[in-house]
Amino acid sequence: MGLLPGSAPLSDREKGMSSEFIARAFDKSDHSSPARFIWSHIRRHPVVGLLMVFGAFSNAALASVVPYLIGQAFNVIIAGGGMKRVASLTLAIVGSQLGRGVLQFMRNFSSETFAQRIERDVRDELYASLLGKSMTFHDFQPVGEIMARVTNDVRELNLMMNPGLNLILGSGMFILLPLVVSPTIHPALILTPLLFLLAYVLIQYHYVSSLHRVAQEVRASFGRMNARLAETLDGIEVVKGTAQEKEEIRYFGGLVDRVRDRIVEQGDIEARYFAILLLGLATVGGFLHALILYRAGAINTGDIVAFMGQISLFGFPVFTSIFAFSRMASGYASAERILNIITARTDLDQNEGGYQAPMRGAVTFERVDFGYLDERQILHDVSFNIRPGQTIAVVGQTGSGKSTLAKLINRTYDVDAGRVLIDGVDVRDWNLAALRSQISIIEQEIFLFSRSIADNIRFGKPDATQEEIEEAARKAQAHEFIMSLPQGYETVIGQRGVTLSGGQRQRLAIARAFLTDPRILILDDSTSAIDSATEDRIQKAIWAAARGRTTILITHRLSQIRWADHIIVLRKGRVVAQGTHEELLNTSEAYRRIFARYEGPVTRPDAAQGERSPAQGLD
Ligand code: ATP
Ligand code: MG
Repeated sequence: MGLLPGSAPLSDREKGMSSEFIARAFDKSDHSSPARFIWSHIRRHPVVGLLMVFGAFSNAALASVVPYLIGQAFNVIIAGGGMKRVASLTLAIVGSQLGRGVLQFMRNFSSETFAQRIERDVRDELYASLLGKSMTFHDFQPVGEIMARVTNDVRELNLMMNPGLNLILGSGMFILLPLVVSPTIHPALILTPLLFLLAYVLIQYHYVSSLHRVAQEVRASFGRMNARLAETLDGIEVVKGTAQEKEEIRYFGGLVDRVRDRIVEQGDIEARYFAILLLGLATVGGFLHALILYRAGAINTGDIVAFMGQISLFGFPVFTSIFAFSRMASGYASAERILNIITARTDLDQNEGGYQAPMRGAVTFERVDFGYLDERQILHDVSFNIRPGQTIAVVGQTGSGKSTLAKLINRTYDVDAGRVLIDGVDVRDWNLAALRSQISIIEQEIFLFSRSIADNIRFGKPDATQEEIEEAARKAQAHEFIMSLPQGYETVIGQRGVTLSGGQRQRLAIARAFLTDPRILILDDSTSAIDSATEDRIQKAIWAAARGRTTILITHRLSQIRWADHIIVLRKGRVVAQGTHEELLNTSEAYRRIFARYEGPVTRPDAAQGERSPAQGLD
């Protein structure tokens, strides 16, 4: 459970945001539009940002000094002036370029720092925002698509700043300087730079707007490709087990082709970039204009050289802007995608000001309705009451809503109607962290991180000592097998726990629950994957775990059902019977049928292999 460090009061904006978890460090980022979002991140680094702008400007200024000084030197030579004057002009050129080198270094350094910081900030913000989203949000987001946004789209923002913005600022100065310097040679010479500037702005506007659409498509197709990749790797066992490799390769190939096509389309737009033609026109037009002025006696040869030098400065922005503006378009498209996630509404909120207290463990469902999707209701009018310390069993056929019911208790999802109360307080009024840290769910499918066994056990209690971890593992009957692993507790579990059997995974999860010592423990089918030899020991572990706390067992095992204080029988999302084992045997025909079937003579040869599910009797 992600608890925030520190407990400063929430800002008004945070209160307005609905999230399970809010990262305070990003108070200042503005989510109202991609441009504002980018700007709010830029603003957080004023020093390196200004150094970058200053470096870009001074670089351009010192670059334009060169043609100006060369023009002067020409005039001195043509006028038959002394070599001393030429030498001092040469020294001025050398000096200015040395200064330019130093400034250039500063610019590169600050622009790199600036871009990397923005990448880091945005990635941190996006990650924090992802962890704050409700399960409903995550249920509908392909993991690969989100990964593409956190890795590649955020990276695009870095490239948007450097080289993108850096080059645009730097080269922008190369456009403005001729506008300032040329009129000092002769006022009429402002004509060419001015026309160039107007045409350049129009061309860039058109260029960026056509790039923006295709950049969005590039990013989206990349996301789709990534989503498929992640899903196939996640389900690699199924792909191999059903011999679908060829089909998957073909399908993936199609997605890769689409990414390529979109990028080629982007290249196509870049290739049609006609600012290069504009450069040619400016050179020819500027030269003609200068010649006319020369023949009229308004300027001299050196002036022509100096002026043409100014015009040649346009070359830099023209060539770099192909690349720089396409980085801007990609970055903008990425910012839109990132913002789409950050601003996605999520239904749960952290409720930091909510009720906090040590739990006693009373759980009440009051006429609860719930559906994952609006159009399909899963739980109907579910009501029951569990007293602190009781052990209850939830039984029912597959798909009847047992796991769903468990997820409403710790607010993995929120009810649509009715209430879930813990110690008489609606779970929605509890502080979410206080609520979840006192409830432990051992899921039906146990997820382990690719970290050491010890780290996995201490996941809910990061400061647990080695002794505590081993103690928990012993109680969960896991110590023995852990010690038989090559590095004992330090053995790193492979991807998705594949190096452990189902039973071993379950015992680790039970150890994890022992360590967090929850007031309410929910075991979802937790012994189904354990062989009968281990079962006895696991049973003991569960009894030990259940002692002194409210325990909800979602199970098909009759030994556990019999032992429960209270049994809830679910059928198609409705409670069809509840009570103790004896009560149910007396009052519920359905329940009696289950037991009759289970305890009756074994008629099928395979039925002797293990326990039959009592739920089957409910059909
Ligand atoms: P089992 O014994 O097989 O574990 P269960 O009783 O635990 O079954 P649930 O997992 O609660 O059943 O599922 C109840 C219904 O809710 C099913 O019809 C299932 O399709 C649906 N369902 C479960 N999880 C989701 C989800 N994340 N999004 C949408 N529907 C879901
Ligand atoms: Mg289930």
